[in-house]
Amino acid sequence: MKPERTSARSTAGPRCACSKLTDKRKIVPVPRPDLVALTTAPPVPRANAKLVDVEGLRRELEAQIEGEIRFDAVSRALYSTDASVYRIEPLGVVVAKSREDLIRIVRLATRFRCPITLRGGGTAQAGQAIGDGLQVDTSKYYNRILELNAEERWVRVQPGIVLDELNAALKPHGLRFAPDVSTASRATVGGMMANNSSGARSVLYGKTIDHVLSQEVVLADGAVVHFGARDAAQLEAAMQGDTLEAECYRTVARLGAECAEEIDRRFPKVLRRVGGYNLDEFTDPGRPFNMARMMVGSEGTLGVVLEATLNLVPLPKAKAVMVVQFGDLLEALGATPLILRHGPSAVEVMDKFILDHTRLSPTLQRVRETFIEGEPGAILCIEFHGDTSESLPPRLNACERDLANAGLGYRYHHALDLPAQARVWNLREAALGLSMTMKEDAKSLSFVEDTAVAPEKLRDYIERFMEIVRRHGTSAGVYAHASVGCLHVRPVVNMKTAEGVRKFEAIASEVADLVLEFGGALSGEHGDGLVRSPFMRKMFGPVLYEAFRTVKRTFDPLGIFNPGKIVDSPPITDNLRFGPGYVSANPRTFFDYSEYGGMGAAVEMCSGLGACRKTLEGSMCPSFMVTREEMHTTRGRAGTLNKALRNELDDRDVYRALDLCLECRACKAECPVGVDMARFKSEFLARYWQTYGTPLHAQMLGNVRTFAQMGRPFAPLVNWAAETGPVRLLNEAVFGIDRRRTLPALNRRTFASQKRSAPDPGVYFFNDTFTNFYDPHIGAAVWDVLEAAGQKIAFAPNHCCGRPLISKGLLKQARVQAQRNTKSLYDIAAAGKKIVFCEPSCLSAVREDAPSLLRGEEQRRAQVVAQASVLFEEFASGLSIPLKPGPPKILLHGHCHQKSMGLLPAAKTLLEKIPGCTVVDLDAGCCGMAGSFGYSKEHFEVSRQIGERRLLPQVRAKDPSSAVVAAGTSCRHQIADFTDETAMHPAVLLRSLLKIEGDVDH
Ligand SMILES: Cc1cc2nc3c(=O)[nH]c(=O)nc-3n(C[C@H](O)[C@H](O)[C@H](O)COP(=O)(O)OP(=O)(O)OC[C@H]3O[C@@H](n4cnc5c(N)ncnc54)[C@H](O)[C@@H]3O)c2cc1C
Ligand code: SF4
Repeated sequence: MKPERTSARSTAGPRCACSKLTDKRKIVPVPRPDLVALTTAPPVPRANAKLVDVEGLRRELEAQIEGEIRFDAVSRALYSTDASVYRIEPLGVVVAKSREDLIRIVRLATRFRCPITLRGGGTAQAGQAIGDGLQVDTSKYYNRILELNAEERWVRVQPGIVLDELNAALKPHGLRFAPDVSTASRATVGGMMANNSSGARSVLYGKTIDHVLSQEVVLADGAVVHFGARDAAQLEAAMQGDTLEAECYRTVARLGAECAEEIDRRFPKVLRRVGGYNLDEFTDPGRPFNMARMMVGSEGTLGVVLEATLNLVPLPKAKAVMVVQFGDLLEALGATPLILRHGPSAVEVMDKFILDHTRLSPTLQRVRETFIEGEPGAILCIEFHGDTSESLPPRLNACERDLANAGLGYRYHHALDLPAQARVWNLREAALGLSMTMKEDAKSLSFVEDTAVAPEKLRDYIERFMEIVRRHGTSAGVYAHASVGCLHVRPVVNMKTAEGVRKFEAIASEVADLVLEFGGALSGEHGDGLVRSPFMRKMFGPVLYEAFRTVKRTFDPLGIFNPGKIVDSPPITDNLRFGPGYVSANPRTFFDYSEYGGMGAAVEMCSGLGACRKTLEGSMCPSFMVTREEMHTTRGRAGTLNKALRNELDDRDVYRALDLCLECRACKAECPVGVDMARFKSEFLARYWQTYGTPLHAQMLGNVRTFAQMGRPFAPLVNWAAETGPVRLLNEAVFGIDRRRTLPALNRRTFASQKRSAPDPGVYFFNDTFTNFYDPHIGAAVWDVLEAAGQKIAFAPNHCCGRPLISKGLLKQARVQAQRNTKSLYDIAAAGKKIVFCEPSCLSAVREDAPSLLRGEEQRRAQVVAQASVLFEEFASGLSIPLKPGPPKILLHGHCHQKSMGLLPAAKTLLEKIPGCTVVDLDAGCCGMAGSFGYSKEHFEVSRQIGERRLLPQVRAKDPSSAVVAAGTSCRHQIADFTDETAMHPAVLLRSLLKIEGDVDH
């Protein structure tokens, strides 16, 4: 049953002590002298992690908890950061499996006086997801939908469920959970409730608090209580007795009633305010009393939410977007009140600072040009929802007319279809990501990123805000929700210097004063955490601050729930992730990290946004998608690696964290700040082998070309033997190759012996190891297709690309290989000739890795070679190829390196040249094989599970008349090992459809 929402409640109860101190004067940003006594009241009790009997706690957890208990150094490091500027190492981590686990954890925390901090996606930006006691992770197991009532539009969920996953399950019912945080791919409902999250469409949907109907909560005494809407009689009943629950009801009811005037005076009158405790929800006796509304926004400081019943909204039937260009940011903000009269569902602003970052990526640049002209000072993206698509253009036109009549904006672009709208929102996301990719120590940071004022004051407020930023000699990008006056402003500050930290503190304090002056909220979206809690007394005044303390003291008498957040927080400059004097590790490396100032700083580019925790789309990070372990996110790996570089963690522990990195490079493309974990892993392995010796399997797989050369003369025998049981067992025992895998078959005739180079060639073919020894038919197909398109081809004088060596961390040899290839290919490249590759990972080795492995003049030459190196699909998509019709449908699977280099669209364009053919991008993420990763015994199961997530089921379900095309050797092998289908290289398919005679000897 959906809980009741109405009926009046009693306001009876004892008078609040603080009411005597209620001050009816206008707010001033300084504490009043008559209230000094309150401000010096003792802090609320706080459990002290340092006094906890850790061994005893661990023993009890192990005895009582079904979930995973981890007190090791890596786990503690993994959970020591979130998306904030802070770092606090916990005593230990519990990955909770069940409701009972959570209840027992709270009871043990109470018994051992141990602080606990709940954790969902760890994307909180203010530091509220970290703490020094136990970290309790709900995201891995405690993430189910418990009950759905589509008719009544509500759902009951466990708190660890990720918003996108919840909404994917609701979509077939035409419903969604409305608050649309931009971290929807990894933010959990538990985190959203605790932070009272909302998103771009909050002007329409409000915040999370507006959609939480009820919660089941475990309180500090271990009691499990139901918090839902109560009428007056039910409230009266709840307040009776001597339980902690009853005491909570009495306290909140009393404070709500008695502080009502002060709340009215001090709580900002804005749509977005999430700071402090929601006492304002309990001042109106005409409204139902719902204690879940106190829990929402309390940042895990009052209890642990076990489950929640959420209100659902119908999916919009039609949408349209208008992008308006303005001369400057202030003009854009000044236009917002007028736009709001037209009832938009979102008004999102992006200033020039953010927009300029689209210039960093050629792909984004192209997207930008589809709807932005010239160099606007700012743009507003205005979205409208409607019942029919026909109803929307008139609304856009009316809004445009009003703006033009008022002389606001100078270009109005209407995006009416969904792909055009997707381009607008994707550009917004990508530009924001890029604006955070500063390679130097000074970075664009979250600490005053979340203030909100009334939209009509926004223009003047931001003008003053930017004055503060400029006065401190820095700059900031401005973006986000103009519709509700909540703008994200991220000043650029270097937190590794004392001066930077002083600037950070000064800007934070001055902005807090400015917010007060404008009657705004210090946090409109991201919460208080460690960065804004220190201002709570300033923002709400001493009376309400003391009321907040009373709330905390009542709910949490021992101070175990996420202490130090909202009330009695440490100073803003405690627990900083970096801080004055922090020096990034700068070890000697094979790859060149000079643009970041060293490898440590490159690893520190990860600021904890958590995009690597997404599970539904894209490729990053394949291993996390199946293990759901923080350790297997790019963020987790970067954090542990950084500690190892600083000698704070043992390399053997870090090896564990990096072991399941497939080196797919998805993170390089999909991580908003482009963390390239594949390169870090290979660098780490090189260092690791130096200490612990290079294992046989790495030497064997890294030197696959040598082994292929040796085995080639005996190819039939080698191939036969590789299939036999004893050799499979031997391979498994000696080289770690899983016996269930089929090895690629060697070919006695190399590809090099099958074709002759043309005189005076226009293009060169990079004859990689796999093509030459295993798949010569692919080389032949590339050759024939290019010839059919009128190209004169020759073999490039190349050596192995070095990819197997790079992926196994044999970087000394890989560097030699890069030198050799650069030397032999430079003249061709310098002459302006293209070098065509058929294997994406070989291209990536030459295009991306080789220049970074070299230095000085060699590096410059390697860059020339890199620029000349192209993928077959990239090159051939620009040619005219005589083709006859083929399969009506092609299922295209992109290799991860192909996608990370942005080359999948070229493959689609090329295949679409086949007459009458539809090309479907499977968008299946990583295949799971990733070079030699999936062959290893340790990785077999993870590799299979990755493939089974999206790729393999789609291949199995294919129509018999469709073809599966995959450019990657490993992807084709994964498909062959786990399905009855055969995937083709694109060149092979095109070759079979050429309108020419003759065939090639395989
Ligand atoms: C790039 C970026 C963009 C963002 N965009 C938005 C945005 O558009 N809108 C927005 O509102 N926020 C945004 N955020 C902030 C953040 O993503 C949201 O607050 C999000 O809802 C947090 O969810 P989470 O699962 O990551 O929570 P976490 O960070 O893991 O935890 C948040 C809080 O919830 C508490 N908590 C978690 N589970 C429970 C539980 N079961 N019981 C009690 N307490 C619990 C934690 O202790 C912590 O205090 C953004 C953050 C980043 C890094
Ligand atoms: S390279 Fe791939 S597997 Fe490795 S961390 Fe990045 S996304 Fe994950």
